[in-house]
Amino acid sequence: MALKVFNFKCKNGHLFEAMIPSVKEFEKQRDAGLFLCPFCECREVERVLSAPHVARSRSTSVSASEKEAQERLENLIKEVAEQINSAEDVGEKFAAEARAIHYGDSPERSIRGTAKTEEVIELIEEGVPIVPLGVKNDRKVN
Ligand SMILES: [Zn+2]
Repeated sequence: MALKVFNFKCKNGHLFEAMIPSVKEFEKQRDAGLFLCPFCECREVERVLSAPHVARSRSTSVSASEKEAQERLENLIKEVAEQINSAEDVGEKFAAEARAIHYGDSPERSIRGTAKTEEVIELIEEGVPIVPLGVKNDRKVN
C-alpha cells in the first residue's frame, strides 16, 4: 500500500506531517488513540491542508509530466526524422506526388520534398496525410 504525506495539527497548535496510507487509516488510528502529536503526545489531532505543501507536491507532479511530454515529443521528432531520411526525395514535385499517392495514381511510399504554403494547405484540406516540417523551425520546442 502506498503511503502519502498528510499534514496534521494537534489541539495545542503543533503542525506536523505523517505518512499514512489514507485518511481513513488516520481516523482509525486516531479513534483507537494511537495517533499522537509527536511534540506533546496529545491525541486530539486533526488533518489540515497545508498550502505550501500542496503547492510543492503539485509543482513536482507537473514538472514530471512535462518532462514525460518532452521525452515523448523528442521521440516523435526522432521517429519522423527517421521516416524522412528513408523517404524518397521528390523535390519540388512533392505536392503532385503526394496527391498522386493519396489517390492511388502512384505507388504507395514515403516521400519528402518541398511545397509552397498554399500547396500544403490544399493537401491537408484534401485529406492527404502529410507532415509540414517547416513549422518546426519557426517554433522553439521547450
Ligand atoms: Zn501537540
